[in-house]
Amino acid sequence: MRRLVILGSTGSIGTQALDVVRRHPDRFEIVALVAATKHELLVGQVREFFPPVVGVTEEAAAEELRAGLEGLRAPEIVTGPDAAERLARDVEADMVVNAMVGAVGLAPTLAALQSGKMLALANKESLVVGGELVLDLVKGEPERLIPVDSEHAALAQCLRGERREDLRRVILTASGGPFRGWSREELAKASVKEALAHPTWRMGPKITIDSATLMNKGLEVIEAHYLFRLEYSQIDVVVHPESVIHGLAEFTDGSLIAQLAEPLMRLPIQLALAYPDRLGKGVRSLDLASLRRLSFEPVDVDAFPALDLAYRAGRMGATFPAALNAANEVGVMAFLEGKIPLTGIADVVARVLDEHEPASVVSLVTLDRADGWARRRAAELIEEG
Ligand code: MG
Repeated sequence: MRRLVILGSTGSIGTQALDVVRRHPDRFEIVALVAATKHELLVGQVREFFPPVVGVTEEAAAEELRAGLEGLRAPEIVTGPDAAERLARDVEADMVVNAMVGAVGLAPTLAALQSGKMLALANKESLVVGGELVLDLVKGEPERLIPVDSEHAALAQCLRGERREDLRRVILTASGGPFRGWSREELAKASVKEALAHPTWRMGPKITIDSATLMNKGLEVIEAHYLFRLEYSQIDVVVHPESVIHGLAEFTDGSLIAQLAEPLMRLPIQLALAYPDRLGKGVRSLDLASLRRLSFEPVDVDAFPALDLAYRAGRMGATFPAALNAANEVGVMAFLEGKIPLTGIADVVARVLDEHEPASVVSLVTLDRADGWARRRAAELIEEG
């Protein structure tokens, strides 16, 4: 029985992780759930999975939870902005599933690893912002850190059993999002509704906007750099609209190994939850003949500058990726609120990177400072228009 703590249980990844648990009650036990939003959904999850501990960020949410659970054997409720971090550290569990959104996921990631647990990581921002701190904690035991991101789950499978010195490069696939083929001028007029309509993946709003700008792919390049300890020159991106191939590894002899599957997050989620086992339920066989063709094209770097910004921040290292991520989070929110056009997100990120004075990453404090500065600066730039 693997005991799980799920952080972000009411989001897209969190609910799908619980779906895997529901299908495999003999393998998994939920020992804690943490959610910052959708508390009615959380009430239902507690009624179904009976976790002994539940975390919420605000006292009002705790009240709502108590009211919703009246008459039941109520779990202990931990409240506060650091609820996720505390439960990731303090609850006795085998694995923490970090399905939080944004840089707030970093502290819980570090807490889970510091306390010796396995970490199924869907919160890519943890690695983008604090990759070096995260890697320090899994030195010598990389298998405690398991990617849930589909591209990285694919690469991990391509690399299983291979010798690292034989690896030449990896290739991340990008669907291209809803605006593949659009010009920069057209993108400047894209609506929120259009940006939220992803052609192949169903995901939460933050990552869906990141997919529309290709910043998501940029964050994934930085994530791959840390997860697989690769140089940026060894990480390539190709647009693959069908989203059937999720990642490829190329070896020194020119062999290319790819992982294919339906574009469903359930597969990388269950691969991580059950690691190293493969679960037999949940994902259909691919019907290759009915797919007929798989296509590839280069990224349009003029229309989608976010990808290059991420490469740039990643190569410069230090606190640049933290600044990139923070400015992007502020930019995405401003776009969703109608304050800036879609293309404004990358514009703000570029300005913030230009002005950023880096510090070397020695602790969470250094990162928080860079993150805070970048958020303030991004907000100012958006206000100035
Ligand atoms: Mg991904």
